[in-house]
Amino acid sequence: MKKRGIFFNLIFVLLIIIVLLHSAQLFARAGGGHSYGGSSHSSSHSFSGSYGGSRSGGGGGGDLFVLIMLLIQYPYIGIPVIAGGILFFYLMGRGANNYRINSTIRKASGLSDAQEKMLKEQNLAKIKESDPNFSEDKFIERAKSSFMIVQKCWSDQNLMPMKPFTSNGVFSRFSIQIDIQKESGFRNQLDDITILDASIQAVTSDNIYDRIDVMFTAMINDKDVDLKTGKVIRTNESSPFIEFWTFLRRRGAKTQSKSGLLEGKCPNCGGDIKITESGNCEYCNAFVSSGEYDWVLTEITQEEEYSSPYLQQNIIGLEDMMKKDIDFNVAVIEDKVSTIFFRIVRANYFGDVKYIKEVSHPNFYNTLSTAFNPANEWYPSLEDVAVGAVETKRITVNGSDGYDRVEVMIRWSGSYCERNRRTKELRNVGEPSIRTQVYTLIRKSDVKTPGRYNFRTIPCRSCGAPLTQNTEDRCEYCGAVINDGSRDWVLYAVDIYRPYNYNVQYTGVVKSSEENYVMLSAMISAMLSDGVIDEREKDMIYRAAQNRGIPPAVVSQMIESAKRRELIAIPSNTEEARGMLASMARVALADGKISGAEYKLLLNFGAKYNFQKADIDIIINNQRRLLFQEAKEIIKNTKIK
Ligand SMILES: [Zn+2]
Ligand SMILES: [Zn+2]
Repeated sequence: MKKRGIFFNLIFVLLIIIVLLHSAQLFARAGGGHSYGGSSHSSSHSFSGSYGGSRSGGGGGGDLFVLIMLLIQYPYIGIPVIAGGILFFYLMGRGANNYRINSTIRKASGLSDAQEKMLKEQNLAKIKESDPNFSEDKFIERAKSSFMIVQKCWSDQNLMPMKPFTSNGVFSRFSIQIDIQKESGFRNQLDDITILDASIQAVTSDNIYDRIDVMFTAMINDKDVDLKTGKVIRTNESSPFIEFWTFLRRRGAKTQSKSGLLEGKCPNCGGDIKITESGNCEYCNAFVSSGEYDWVLTEITQEEEYSSPYLQQNIIGLEDMMKKDIDFNVAVIEDKVSTIFFRIVRANYFGDVKYIKEVSHPNFYNTLSTAFNPANEWYPSLEDVAVGAVETKRITVNGSDGYDRVEVMIRWSGSYCERNRRTKELRNVGEPSIRTQVYTLIRKSDVKTPGRYNFRTIPCRSCGAPLTQNTEDRCEYCGAVINDGSRDWVLYAVDIYRPYNYNVQYTGVVKSSEENYVMLSAMISAMLSDGVIDEREKDMIYRAAQNRGIPPAVVSQMIESAKRRELIAIPSNTEEARGMLASMARVALADGKISGAEYKLLLNFGAKYNFQKADIDIIINNQRRLLFQEAKEIIKNTKIK
C-alpha cells in the first residue's frame, strides 16, 4: 500500500512536471514574439525607418521561472513537484546529466534581469566615481531635452541644432531621409510629442567610452505636409512606441555645471551651440562635439531590434588592433559603416557616385559608376531602406598588402527599383527583402585613429581642411588623395555575408538575436538552393522562426531575398557546410535543447551536402559539449559579488 502510494505520487509529480515544462515553453514563446514594422508605410514613427524585423530571440530559463513562481505561490504543490523533479532526474541518470548540461547552457545564455540591474548599478557607480557631478536624474532630463530637439529638427527639416550631439552615422541617416522628403515635396510634421517615460536601460563601457542606453516610451502624432501648398496629405495618430537611444562619452569626462550639447548649448562658452564643419563651436572655437566633453547620440534603435549591450561577442582580431592603435573603437567603426551605408543610399537615390567617392576606395565605387551613368534615363535604385543590424566580425592587422582590414556585417532591408533621373519616378519596384552583407574597410597599416575625431569626419591629412561635404576622391583644397586609406578607413568591398568564415574564434554562449537570423537565413537559402521551396519546408521555416521571435513578415522578406541569392552565402563545399552546420547547431542549442522542428531543419540542411543523420548528431553533440564548457566559464565569471 505504502509503496504504491509513493509510486502514484511520483507519477503524479512527473505528470505535473511534464505539463509545467510544456507550459513553460509556451510561456517563453509568447514572451519571445514581438511586434514588427512590416511595411514602412505602417511605421508609427517616421524617422526610425522601419526595418522589416525583430531582433529579439525567445527568452531562455522559462521553466525555472515557472517552477519558482509555483514554489512561492503554491508551496504545497511546488515543493513536492520540485522534490519529485530532483528525484526524477536523479533516477534518470544519463537524463540528469543531460538536464544539467542543458540547464547550464541555458543559464549562461541570458543574464537575468536582476544581474542586468546589478551591472547597471555597478557601472553607474564607476561613472560617478570619476565624475561626481553625474546624476541619473539630471542625465535623464538631458536625454529628454535631446529627444525634443531631434523631433523638432525632423519636423522643421533643419538638422543643424542636432548636429553637435549626434554622431556621423545618426546624422547621415537623418539627412538622407530629410533630403528624400524634400525631393518628394513634403515634410513630416510631428505634433503632440509626449514622453511617457524615460529611463536608463543599460550602462556599459569599452576601451574608450562610457555608454548609456535610455529607453523612451513616447507618443507622437504626425502628418505629411505638402511643401508648396501647405496642405496636409497624410495624417497618422500615434500609439505609444519604445525606442532606445544610445549615448557615448569619453571615459573620465566630467559633467559640466552649466548646460551642454544635449540642451543645445556649447559646453565651453555656454552660448547657443552652432558648430563649424570641423566640429568646433562657432563662437569660442572649442572642439566640442566628439564625445570628448559631453554625451553624443550614436544610435537610435527600435524596440524589436534592441539587444542588451551586456551581451557582447568576441571579435576576431580586436585585441591585436587595440595593441597597435589604442584609440581604435568598435562603436566608432560601426558608426562609420552606418555613415558609409547612408552615403550609398544617397548615391542610389540621386543616381550619382560622387556621394561615396570620399568614403570608398575606387575598387568599390568604380563598380557603381557604370550603373549611374548620367546618360541613362533610368538608373538602379533602392526604396524604403532601413538598417537592422551592424556588427563588427573580424579585424586583420598588418596585411601583406600594407593594409589593415575590418569586416563588418550589415543587415538591411529595402526594395530594388529603377528611378528616373529627371522626375525621380519609380518603376520595377521589387518586393521588400532583407540582405546580409559584409563591408570590408581598409586603412594603411601605419595609420592610427585620431581619437579626437571619433564620430566626426577626419580632416585632410595634408592641409587639415574639414571634409564633411566633400564629393571628390581628393581634398578640394589641396588636392591630396583622401580615399586610399591613408587618412581614414574606406570601403573596399561589399560581399554577401558568409557566416562560416567567422566561426573560427567564435566564443561565448551568450546568444545574440543576430545568430537566429543567421541560422534561419542559412536554412532558407539551403532550401532554395534547388530553386524551389515546398509547403512542408515553408512550414518548417515559419515554425522555427516563430520559436525564435522572428515575425512572419520578416521571413517572407528573407525568402524573397534568398530567391535572388542575396540573403546569405551558402556553403560551396563540405567543409564550409560542416562549419555552417556547427554554427546552426550552436544557435539551436543556445537555449539548452534543440526543438524537433530545428532538428528536422538541420537534417534537411545537412542532406543537401550529403551529411547522414549520424554525422549531424555528432556535430550537435560536439557543439553541446563546447557550449557546456563555455557556459561553466561564463557562469563562473559573471557571478555577482
Ligand atoms: Zn563655445
Ligand atoms: Zn587637403
